[in-house]
Amino acid sequence: MLQLSVVDKLKKTPKAKPCPDGQHLDVIQHPQVPPGEEDPRQRVEAMRRSGATQNEIDGALHNIATGTPLITHGAMLSRGLTPEEKDANKNGDEQKIWAVCINCHRKREVDHAASPESVAECKDVQRGWGDATQRSNNIKFAQDGGSVTYKIPLSRAGGPTSRAIWNAFKDAGAQSRVKIVGL
Ligand SMILES: [Zn+2]
Repeated sequence: MLQLSVVDKLKKTPKAKPCPDGQHLDVIQHPQVPPGEEDPRQRVEAMRRSGATQNEIDGALHNIATGTPLITHGAMLSRGLTPEEKDANKNGDEQKIWAVCINCHRKREVDHAASPESVAECKDVQRGWGDATQRSNNIKFAQDGGSVTYKIPLSRAGGPTSRAIWNAFKDAGAQSRVKIVGL
């Protein structure tokens, strides 16, 4: 895994010909948070005002309280813009956490990243566990040495969706790098 200093030097413009899905080499880029939002609970409040889903909020609060992985800084939580920031015409991408490919510079949002090697997605699993693109890119991230956590409703943990996630990572030889947490 590459360090954040390398990410900072990345050219931000995506290349015309991106890598195929599942072949990116992603590194994590954290946002610079507004004053006060270093405190993760303040960050969650801003997430709420920016229209985050209850599932995303529950996932964040769970990680602040108990870990796996532990959220200790607001920059570890991705969010959209608050109404005030929208009024100020801020860039809608500014407060998001990005996984950026060092080869083609394509970027994708991740919900939580407690470290450069660890990403988490909060899923209500009403519509599976993410689209095919995200699934293949998260599997690749795990194959490259990262860890991926899926937070799903407790009632679904251990059910067919959990098994589908685990089997997909197992087929890729990355089952030791995926965690499924019921909230
Ligand atoms: Zn790429």
